[in-house]
Amino acid sequence: MTQHNNLIKGEWVAGNGYSPNLNPSNLSDVIGEYTQGDASHVDAAVQAARAAFPAWSTSGIQARADALDKIGSEILARKEELGTLLAREEGKTKPEGIGEAARAGNIFKFFAGECLRLAGETLPSVRPGIGVEITREPVGVVGIITPWNFPIAIPAWKIAPALAYGNCVVMKPADLVPGCAWALAEIISRSGIPAGVFNLVMGRGSVIGDALVGHPGIDAVSFTGSQGVGARIAQACATGLKKFQLEMGGKNPQVVLDDADLKTAVELCVQSAFFSTGQRCTASSRLIVTQGIYPKFIEAMKERMAGLKVGDALAQGIDIGPVSSQSQLEQDLSYVEIGKGEGAVLAAGGGRLKLATDGFYMAPALFSESAAAMRINREEIFGPVASVIRVKDYEEALATANDTPFGLSAGIATTSLKHATHFKRHSQAGMVMVNLPTAGVDYHVPFGGRKGSSYGPREQGRYAQEFFTTVKTAYTLA
Ligand code: NAD
Repeated sequence: MTQHNNLIKGEWVAGNGYSPNLNPSNLSDVIGEYTQGDASHVDAAVQAARAAFPAWSTSGIQARADALDKIGSEILARKEELGTLLAREEGKTKPEGIGEAARAGNIFKFFAGECLRLAGETLPSVRPGIGVEITREPVGVVGIITPWNFPIAIPAWKIAPALAYGNCVVMKPADLVPGCAWALAEIISRSGIPAGVFNLVMGRGSVIGDALVGHPGIDAVSFTGSQGVGARIAQACATGLKKFQLEMGGKNPQVVLDDADLKTAVELCVQSAFFSTGQRCTASSRLIVTQGIYPKFIEAMKERMAGLKVGDALAQGIDIGPVSSQSQLEQDLSYVEIGKGEGAVLAAGGGRLKLATDGFYMAPALFSESAAAMRINREEIFGPVASVIRVKDYEEALATANDTPFGLSAGIATTSLKHATHFKRHSQAGMVMVNLPTAGVDYHVPFGGRKGSSYGPREQGRYAQEFFTTVKTAYTLA
């Protein structure tokens, strides 16, 4: 069995033993063994990053651009292999895995270009004879903590801008999916980036998370994951006066109006709610449907869902892979029971599936007759479970869509320009989709939400520089 170590100061360093990385489609398939770090490995990685920072932060932008471009090119050239690894360890289908790997490659290519485009401003001073220059500088050593559901794209969209703008990195991937993070680290280690600029420490959040976030050598933390862990990281960063950025959960609404094209609406609801096994922060789990189209919509959803193929993520012709882990499967199934107990009607799916291989398979679940106040409509489930809420009209649909502690993504299916325009303006989400699924975004534009979904500057695109740089204002007497 291949053993994989942490990357610290350019060396592959063993932690405290190894954990098996299991394929959720087939639990007898062990992908590899990945080392488990502790606080001492975090400390060594942070010290390596601090030592590398002075040279890297003042290195030429051409060298940075070349390294990021090389990383992006290799990921794109190996997207089939990396996407297959991703599908095998996380459980999304192979085409989805390949798509995610390609996205990661494109992100590195985008930020290779951004290395050369970091602009500042010059302004006249209000005092005659003085010039003012506003420039951006790297923040320092950035701790990066990522979740399991996008095991290569999320690391990429944090690491690439961090490095592009001259920061050093200590990254901790989710312990459920170390394979893609390790593969990415291995590519980065051969890119020409000096030792210590990028470090990987694998292990459990409960063991190394606090050590990383609380380390005095860390200047900023970029986190994606659950709200609970995000709030804890926020507290630790505030105490240590560190800059931080949090991308967290969602309970994203998908509105369907009477005037929607039914086929389009059903397709985008199925896509949003169930593809990637519903394990996307931008997945929609609240389908808010106006009363005129409601009966037709429920019937069409049931018919479409009956044709969905759940199976081994690596098999051909599969729409939906397994749930990623035993604990996530238990959570999903428990919410099906909660929904039934709350009085919603289970219109389709909702049970565990026994297939040819022993994996965490579940039939996507659809509730009808659900009420906005039910727990299934307020709490993030993070699985293939969606519920339909019947509303009177557009105004009630908008109010229901916004009635949530989250605010990541929101969608509307309508043929009315008036309602689409109003929804884009009045939705309280960071990302709004018209006649498109709530999940599925471009890599060169800002990503992020509002309310309990996000905290701090946006990720991705040019907006990433807000977090990964700090502004300096310089005055010169002419
Ligand atoms: P999680 O919060 O359990 O874990 C996220 C990361 O934090 C992991 O690497 C974990 O090991 C680490 N961690 C755990 N305890 C820690 C601690 N005390 N200190 C520091 N780090 C710690 O989340 P998850 O289950 O991996 O991912 C699912 C969640 O991520 C969902 O809530 C989902 O909505 C969210 N998510 C959000 C976005 C977004 O961009 N908004 C994208 C993807 C996933």
